[in-house]
Amino acid sequence: MLKSRAEVTQSLDGELFDVLVIGGGINGSVSALSLSSKGVSTLLIDKGDFASETSQQSSSLAWGGIKYLESGEFSLVWQLCHSRNELMRFFPSQVKEIRFFTKLEKGFRKPRFFIFLGTLVYWLMGRFTMRAPRLLSKQVIANDEPVVDVKNCQGGVEYSDCYFVDTDTRFVFNLIKQAAKQGAKAVNYLEATKLSCGGDGIWDVEILDRLDPEAKTYKVRARAIVNAAGPYADKLNASSGVATKFRHVFSKGVHLIVPKITNSKRVLTFFEDDGRMFFVIPMGECSCIGTTDTRVETLPAVVSPEDREFILSNINKRLNLEKPLTLSDVISERCGVRPLAVETKPKPAKGDDASSDWMSLSRKHVLEADKTKGLISIFGGKLTDCLNVGREVSEAIADMGITKGQMQSADKPFWEDLALKQTFAQRAKGLGLSADAIERIWRRFQDDATRILDDYQADKTLMQTITPDYPLTWAELKFAARHEMAMGLGDLLRRRTNIEQDMPIKGKALRPLLLDIARTVYGDQQGAADKAVEEYLK
Ligand SMILES: Cc1cc2nc3c(=O)[nH]c(=O)nc-3n(C[C@H](O)[C@H](O)[C@H](O)COP(=O)(O)OP(=O)(O)OC[C@H]3O[C@@H](n4cnc5c(N)ncnc54)[C@H](O)[C@@H]3O)c2cc1C
Repeated sequence: MLKSRAEVTQSLDGELFDVLVIGGGINGSVSALSLSSKGVSTLLIDKGDFASETSQQSSSLAWGGIKYLESGEFSLVWQLCHSRNELMRFFPSQVKEIRFFTKLEKGFRKPRFFIFLGTLVYWLMGRFTMRAPRLLSKQVIANDEPVVDVKNCQGGVEYSDCYFVDTDTRFVFNLIKQAAKQGAKAVNYLEATKLSCGGDGIWDVEILDRLDPEAKTYKVRARAIVNAAGPYADKLNASSGVATKFRHVFSKGVHLIVPKITNSKRVLTFFEDDGRMFFVIPMGECSCIGTTDTRVETLPAVVSPEDREFILSNINKRLNLEKPLTLSDVISERCGVRPLAVETKPKPAKGDDASSDWMSLSRKHVLEADKTKGLISIFGGKLTDCLNVGREVSEAIADMGITKGQMQSADKPFWEDLALKQTFAQRAKGLGLSADAIERIWRRFQDDATRILDDYQADKTLMQTITPDYPLTWAELKFAARHEMAMGLGDLLRRRTNIEQDMPIKGKALRPLLLDIARTVYGDQQGAADKAVEEYLK
């Protein structure tokens, strides 16, 4: 079970760990899980909330990289399909198959039948684990998805890939909970500010508590460091005097979230004006549209008026809406950078100069391990490939001899506990929960799901949903607020739940609900709820 933040931090000063993982995005979380499942004593820290950087800005797709077939990167597609299948097998309720409904315009760069052959090859590379692709006529598109504009359409294709049902952040958080169950310590809002490797081969790390009003610091020791700081990994290495063979360049990606465009649980796929794939992805009660791919040099990346215009004009051209989407329809935005791994020296990396093809830069991850120092840096990568990152980190740590034979022990299973799910489902049925509610609560809370049922039994009013048409009960929200290290409304509404992005209300209409949430969850002594809401809306 995840310990509270206070519980973990009170004993932190001076503690020695086998491994300190810096960064609680997907790569740090999966590393912590993989290491702790092998008995390695692990501390995971993040300078913000868990998954509060790149790993909350993705398209939330676990995909085998169909688009890389066009550039001939068959081995990458083969590997990504395998990774995707593994995710689906290990986390069957959290990573699910979804259909990609693709419209092809007349004059598209490849004939429709050729694209269909591509989807068949993709299906084969995915080892036929999902439903077969199908060729779509213009008429079928018009019937099945009337929202798609078929005026200039030559037909299309439909194929399968996967998505993270509760989005990227909840998946990352559940990995962290699993890591904690295997014995890892995990704390948010702790920043590694100074790293030095002593003569005894042990790292001394200064850690700043970003929630402490007095800016308290801790000194932690570790036999090895995993730098999983995502886009900040280069900065962290540079600040500790570490030179690496790889570094990052950044590609900004923006999504806009609007009220649900289609009720079907499919990803609508188009090719935008510059030829890239472009999606309308189901996200709770909303649709998430994107993304863009532009090079940026500085962090954090922000959404520009051009990004919004690009997305809205591209989607409006391809949908058959009564009224085109405008900025006033946008409920929220996602904006992050893809940290892409490139070689540092000696020759300029592909994509490093303006003339080369920026978008063809590889999206593969690279793990760079400095055995003498006991430092591993993770560059690039995708959510989809996370299990491989975890394995490679464990292997590199074993290779450093840090864990003295502990690594030989078999992995503890860290996939979903299906026997427990069955027991939970039986009890939940007895309480009158619908099949959807049973699936949702299990998917989100996993081993803690039965604790939600305890709360329902203790107080029947907690079974009510927070609004009539939003599938989240007060018990689930309260549990997340109290037991999932949510340190404020932002953590609760954006990462433990996704209310901030997938509930189709915004502006003034949202305020009463926020107050209700803050009062119910935190109580309202001395206007604490109002203050929390003001702080959140700032
Ligand atoms: C627009 C977009 C769409 C994408 N879509 C997909 C997709 O559909 N499927 C897919 O598989 N992949 C996708 N990706 C890629 C994927 O999201 C990223 O590769 C992945 O999230 C990177 O994770 P990370 O853990 O390396 O970095 P991050 O998630 O950025 O985590 C790094 C963490 O390190 C912390 N940190 C930094 N410095 C310090 C420090 N000094 N001390 C403590 N903590 C620190 C940060 O706070 C941060 O939380 C997408 C990416 C983008 C931008």
